[in-house]
Amino acid sequence: MVRIVLDAGHGGQDSGAVGNGLREKDLTLKIVKQIGCMLDDYEGVEVHYTRTDDRFIELCGRAEIANKLKADFFISVHINAGGGTGFESYIYNGYVSSATIAYQNVIHAEIVKAIGNVKDRGKKRADYAVLRETHMPAILTENLFIDNANDAAKLKSDQFLQQIAYGHIIGLGKAFGLKKKGEKLPCKKFL
Ligand SMILES: [Zn+2]
Repeated sequence: MVRIVLDAGHGGQDSGAVGNGLREKDLTLKIVKQIGCMLDDYEGVEVHYTRTDDRFIELCGRAEIANKLKADFFISVHINAGGGTGFESYIYNGYVSSATIAYQNVIHAEIVKAIGNVKDRGKKRADYAVLRETHMPAILTENLFIDNANDAAKLKSDQFLQQIAYGHIIGLGKAFGLKKKGEKLPCKKFL
C-alpha cells in the first residue's frame, strides 16, 4: 500500500499568487482534487489531503500531516508567478534519498509530456519548508505562471488543469508501479 499526501498550495487568507483574474489557491485545490479523484482508480494506493477546501494551513502543519500519517510520498502543487512561463519541479536542496531523485525524474517527465507545448524549466532543488520538513520523499510542482497572459489562458481551461492532473497521475503511477483497478468504473471527472 502506497500512502500519498496531496498538498494543494496556499488557502484561506493566503491566496498564493494572483493574476489575470486567477488565484493560485483555487487552481491548486482543483488540480489536487482531480489528482485524488483519478488516484481512486488505482489499487494499492491510499490518498490523503492537507486540505480539501479553502482553508489556511501553516507550511509546517502540512508537513506534520504527512509525517503523522507516515506517508510514503508527499506532493505539493503550486502555480508560479514572477515573470516567466512554463513548468518546473522541486525537491529539497539538502540531503534527499536516491528514491526522491528518481521520483522527481519520472513525475517531472510525465507532467511535461502531458501538458504539451509548454516550456520545461527543468528539475530544480530548493529549501522549501514542505520539502525540508517532510520525513518522506517529497516533490513540489510549479504549474505555469499565473501572471503570464498565455499561461493564465491555459490555466483558465478545466481541460488543461485535467492534463496537469493527468501528468501527475501517470508520473505517480510509474514511480510507484501503481495498477489500475480492473473492476471499477473510471473516476467521474472532478473538473
Ligand atoms: Zn505557491
